[in-house]
Amino acid sequence: FKPVVVIVGRPNVGKSTLFNRLTRSRDALVADLPGLTRDRHYGEGRVGDHPFIVVDTGGFEPVAKEGIMAQMAKQTVQAMVEADVVIFLTDGRIGLTGHDREIGERLRKSSRKVVLAINKAEGISHATAAAEFYALGLGEPLPISAAHGDGVTELIEIALEGM
Ligand code: GDP
Ligand code: MG
Repeated sequence: FKPVVVIVGRPNVGKSTLFNRLTRSRDALVADLPGLTRDRHYGEGRVGDHPFIVVDTGGFEPVAKEGIMAQMAKQTVQAMVEADVVIFLTDGRIGLTGHDREIGERLRKSSRKVVLAINKAEGISHATAAAEFYALGLGEPLPISAAHGDGVTELIEIALEGM
């Protein structure tokens, strides 16, 4: 059993940066993953002896005519279908946005485990950012820096806890 970790979040929060750090660009053998949609970006990561599948949800579909909200809704629904755990990534420099609230709302209604992470947290107040994003009602947010690697191991350990 390889848990499937799906990264969701609005554009530009750092999903692909986190994906690349988790997978170090190893490509998973999608053929070995029955039931998964092929138009996603799949990779394989590992913590210790525990391999997992990572899915980067954004930026691989042509920009939909219906606009960004519809695209995010689709990706979030997709995440719920495929995921054993969802990493909901946000941007600590921009702060909490309406789009974050929209995604958060959908994730709260799902039965999937959700781990909330605040990216780009290097050099900002973790306490202030955490207090702001706590309002999403998805538990204690974890500040990380996908670009620098800070908090990424802790994030994946929390995500895979109990699996
Ligand atoms: P995506 O659209 O969610 O996939 O976001 P990307 O991974 O493409 O990143 C969007 C931008 O944020 C890029 O310019 C990244 O270099 C930048 N970025 C990603 N992670 C971090 C981070 O931890 N800190 C900072 N300061 N910038 C980051
Ligand atoms: Mg991307």
